[in-house]
Amino acid sequence: MEDYLDRSWLEKGMMKRKSNYSPVICFETVDPKRIYQLKTFILNSPEMSHIENVFLYDPWDGLGMLRKGSEGPVFEPYRKRIGASTPVTSRLRGPDSSVEIQALKAVLKEMDGYMKSSPTVFVVQNLSEVREADTGFQAALRAWAIDPRILAKGSTIVVLTSDASKIMDEFTREFVVIVPVDPSSQDERREIIKRTAGELGVSLDSTKIEAARVTLSGLNLHQVESILLESYHRAKDFDPDIMKELKSEMVKRSKVLEVRDPQFSFKDIGGYHAIKEFVQKYIINVLKRPEKARHFGLGLPKGLLFFGPPGTGKSLFANALASEVQLPFINLLTENIYSKWLGESGQNMKNAISMADKMSPAIVFVDEIDRFGKRSGAATGSAEEETQRVFSQFLEWLGRPDREAIIVGTTNVPEHLDDAFLRAGRFDYKIPFLYPGPQARLEILMVHLGFQAGGRRSRVPLDQGEEEIRRYLEEAIVPCTTNFSCAELEELVTRAKRIAFDKDREFVTGEDLLTAAKTFRIDGAHRKRVVEACMAQARRFTDDQVFLDSVEQENRLEGDLEAASGI
Ligand code: ADP
Repeated sequence: MEDYLDRSWLEKGMMKRKSNYSPVICFETVDPKRIYQLKTFILNSPEMSHIENVFLYDPWDGLGMLRKGSEGPVFEPYRKRIGASTPVTSRLRGPDSSVEIQALKAVLKEMDGYMKSSPTVFVVQNLSEVREADTGFQAALRAWAIDPRILAKGSTIVVLTSDASKIMDEFTREFVVIVPVDPSSQDERREIIKRTAGELGVSLDSTKIEAARVTLSGLNLHQVESILLESYHRAKDFDPDIMKELKSEMVKRSKVLEVRDPQFSFKDIGGYHAIKEFVQKYIINVLKRPEKARHFGLGLPKGLLFFGPPGTGKSLFANALASEVQLPFINLLTENIYSKWLGESGQNMKNAISMADKMSPAIVFVDEIDRFGKRSGAATGSAEEETQRVFSQFLEWLGRPDREAIIVGTTNVPEHLDDAFLRAGRFDYKIPFLYPGPQARLEILMVHLGFQAGGRRSRVPLDQGEEEIRRYLEEAIVPCTTNFSCAELEELVTRAKRIAFDKDREFVTGEDLLTAAKTFRIDGAHRKRVVEACMAQARRFTDDQVFLDSVEQENRLEGDLEAASGI
């Protein structure tokens, strides 16, 4: 028995059984290590010594009996002997005149007899979609839950599933003890890491153990062990980079979250000094010195809203923030949360929230947060109700005071957000992103040409030195890129590279940059309206006047300057 494993979930479930609350217990786990733990518990623990039979049903293996083996629980297929009263045709089926029971409906019938006549545990696992009309599964659970004979015999039905609501409706869940099971606790992970290292002969000091424990948070025991083994096979070590990569692959399979190591830092962001300063002062410094914040009774920032037009660096800032505070960067895949299957969207959201919570503290990035919609007065159809459910779940999470995930939401259309999002307390700070002013454009171009000390972008081969190109950009390029977004400036550099490549040159020249800028088509009139609208948005939604002034000052476009000086 792996005695280091946490047993509280088992005890919690069995305690309820003892108190006769209900003999039907659903453990929400599909972790093979947890299931093994459960089977060993049923077969070996003194609390279960009165049990005479342990049955297990799995749709693939059919019904079987669990017995103690020298190396752990053993599954023996259950064969029902066919008595004299059985019709001749079925008696002819096999030489030992017995049949295996495979179909759920027949299994439930068979179990019904056992559980009412002798102390029996019946474990059901791996049920995916259960067609109630064909099986009567939920009806059986409800009937057993209140049957006095089952209670009197001390029989117990254990259902194992990742999520009770997948296989039981709301009515049936009322009859069942539902026990959520933690994927892995800190202590369990630490212990698995130590044991696996011991078995494989990997040498670890306590810093390395702690680092691995943090990296593998949010995963279940089986996943933790698999990642350790795979990392060992690839690198003969528990390599942090390999483990992170494997974890993000695993999380990605959930389709609702994506974990990435933050790629960029503030050094990769050109301009936007007012926002950098603000974020540094009110967010990074506070997160880095939580004791000091606590001393003043200040809460840690847990929700940020970045708003402004596309391509102005909102995602980049969120990513850089994660790297500045050294937290994982989790992307909530909003588009995958909404499912065409009724009932699944709410479930997806629930999974996403619970996984993100388990991996926190982390930066949880929610792009286009406005997609969660609004709270509408009356939900008309079921699909509408489902959308509302997802919206409310998210809102509830956003407002939860004990949340450790720092949510960074972005939107291009803050005016479409539900008022509840904008109300004080939901987001600690709302930060406006405007189109870059001249100085910011210069810096962004320099960043993308690779001239940022300590940044991640590689240097573009140029025919001139840093100072020369800076001057050229300032005089020739910056003036003809008014109203460009940051993304378009990045694209401009890419186009200049293409021109140089096309001309078969070794270097990009200032001319190439100028050609790229001049041929870059932007609908001027439309863009002007967008720029104005985004200024108005910033004024409407930013509640810190000094900050707003400095953002506006920094990103004032030339047109505004002209207007201001009356030209
Ligand atoms: P948004 O989230 O606002 O739509 P992104 O953060 O996705 O914008 O930025 C779009 C592209 O522009 C990215 O490739 C990003 O690296 C680049 N970019 C945005 N802002 C800056 C900046 N201030 N400095 C350098 N590159 C930037």
